[in-house]
Amino acid sequence: MYILLETLADLWRLLDRRGRVLALGLVVLLIITGMFEMGAIVFLFGYIGALSETGSGNPVEDLYRGIGGGLEGRAFALAAGVLLLFVFLMKNVTGLLTSFLLLRFSMKRFERVSEALYAGYLGTRLELWQQKGTAGARQVLASAGIVFRGSFNAALSALSDIAIIVTILLTLLFVLDARFVLIGGLVIGLGGYSFVMLTRSLSETLGRRQLEAQKTTQMLMQEGFGGLIDIRLGDRRETMVSRYVSAVRGFTLADRRSAGLRSVPRAANEVLLATGIVMAAVYFAGRPGGMQAALPTLAVAGFAGLRVTAAVSRLTAALQQMRERREERRLMMTAIRETAPAILLGEAATSPDDYLHEDRPLPAGVSGRLEDRIAVDDVSFTYPDADLPAIDHVSLEIPRGHFVGFCGPSGGGKSTLARLIMGLIRPDTGTIRCDGWDIFRHLRAWHANIGHVGQTVYIAPRNVRENVAFGYEPREINDQAVWRALELARLGDFIRQQPDGLATHLGEDGVKLSGGQRQRLSIARALYHDPDVLVFDEATAALDTVTEAEVTGAIARLSGAKTVIAIAHRLSTLRGCDRIHVVDGGRIVAEGTYRELERTSPEFRKLTGGEGDP
Ligand code: ADP
Repeated sequence: MYILLETLADLWRLLDRRGRVLALGLVVLLIITGMFEMGAIVFLFGYIGALSETGSGNPVEDLYRGIGGGLEGRAFALAAGVLLLFVFLMKNVTGLLTSFLLLRFSMKRFERVSEALYAGYLGTRLELWQQKGTAGARQVLASAGIVFRGSFNAALSALSDIAIIVTILLTLLFVLDARFVLIGGLVIGLGGYSFVMLTRSLSETLGRRQLEAQKTTQMLMQEGFGGLIDIRLGDRRETMVSRYVSAVRGFTLADRRSAGLRSVPRAANEVLLATGIVMAAVYFAGRPGGMQAALPTLAVAGFAGLRVTAAVSRLTAALQQMRERREERRLMMTAIRETAPAILLGEAATSPDDYLHEDRPLPAGVSGRLEDRIAVDDVSFTYPDADLPAIDHVSLEIPRGHFVGFCGPSGGGKSTLARLIMGLIRPDTGTIRCDGWDIFRHLRAWHANIGHVGQTVYIAPRNVRENVAFGYEPREINDQAVWRALELARLGDFIRQQPDGLATHLGEDGVKLSGGQRQRLSIARALYHDPDVLVFDEATAALDTVTEAEVTGAIARLSGAKTVIAIAHRLSTLRGCDRIHVVDGGRIVAEGTYRELERTSPEFRKLTGGEGDP
């Protein structure tokens, strides 16, 4: 039973004030359902008693006789039967209503939790996100539904079954011989309890195995499809398939065993019930009045026995299910605590891990656009888990409209510096200001200024329009702005040649595009919301020279109108820069124009190697 309390406590934690009121309402409803359950037994007992005229002393018998008036025989059975049917109808209507409301209650909380988790993950600060990886997030989101069904729905249905069992047993205590009821209840209760206790660790193990197997299959899918070419060339297909099959087998085996385990109590209870009926018959057959007198008792014991044993079977199955889902439930609760704590408090507070934590609107009179300059002042940043700072006391200024380059050896800190300037990660010390306002106090406003083209481009399996206006609802998309962005990125002609134009589907991961086209699509995406600042992070590193020239041309045409920050692997991209910063060991070790640096900086000359001017 501890698992039930533990699960209910977790569910309670997930409820806001309104949810808690609703939950209490549901408990009242459960009690009412229990009362109807009692009523059904009392009325059934009375009905059979009134018909068999045994005079069992049940007050309901008098009620039936009152209704039946002077009627006899069939007419009486029918008239009194109508009342019985009405009671049963009410019992089942409330029963159905209760289980419907319980399910609805739980599923509504599931919607809320899924929303909060997805929003929380999308909002997790980048440095933490990179540290944790995406697999855990996917796992938690995918298993939230399973947790709700297997843990919380099961806990609620367990509650309603407990209500049924308790009320039926209490009623039987009054209606039937108390010894019978106590012995029967004890046998079935102890049977169920010992079964649950005996299989406790097995259930948990089976649940854990299922979870492990699911994780493995997901990982193998990712590895298999992501590393398809390497697997083919390395002739690794068989190994991958056998790993996959063994994970699937692990899953089905655990799943089969737990399903088998769940159906044992029902079978055992049915046999127990039949035994009880036979024993009662044997007992009554030898008593004065014989079977005739025992009829109401047997009928009620049979009916109540069926109800109780069914409820006990459901209860043990629910307890077992909660055990199997314990691990997943704990993972989900931990994820909620870290990623979406607001729903635990029932408040609209954001997590301190959220990138918009404490974000404020801009003060009146500040446009939010970059009008003068970006100022980085004495900024340092160390990644979580890292020993050395990735950026170490860096200061620099970027005037509006400038084309600025970052270069330096790999791992020197260029990308980190760019991420800091974009406001994607927060400096440990120092400030970054746009025209005097701190970008980290007004991140939403700052991000509206920034377009980013990264080293790798994510192409969604959607059409061109939705890939350029990424994340917008189709009805919100301004086609004119899409075309303008495509023209600036020199992709307009290519899209016009496609029969479907903007509606052309790009296939999964943009397989229909060449490397250069992907990069230009990414540029168009960055330009769609007409930002003031464009950041190109090694945007041309993966391209051949001709394509690089095209993309670099597209970038160069933008400078002047836009403020451009380019991180470059190939230094030729940076020839037209107003200023180049050489970043090494997290510091700016040299700065100037291309020609100045060539003359004055040995670090720069080392980077240019054979690339420099003849
Ligand atoms: P560059 O862009 O110049 O190649 P980066 O800014 O990517 O350099 O990296 C600077 C340093 O920070 C490197 O030592 C790198 O290993 C480390 N680093 C980069 N990204 C992360 C991360 N997400 N977590 C931990 N360390 C990182």
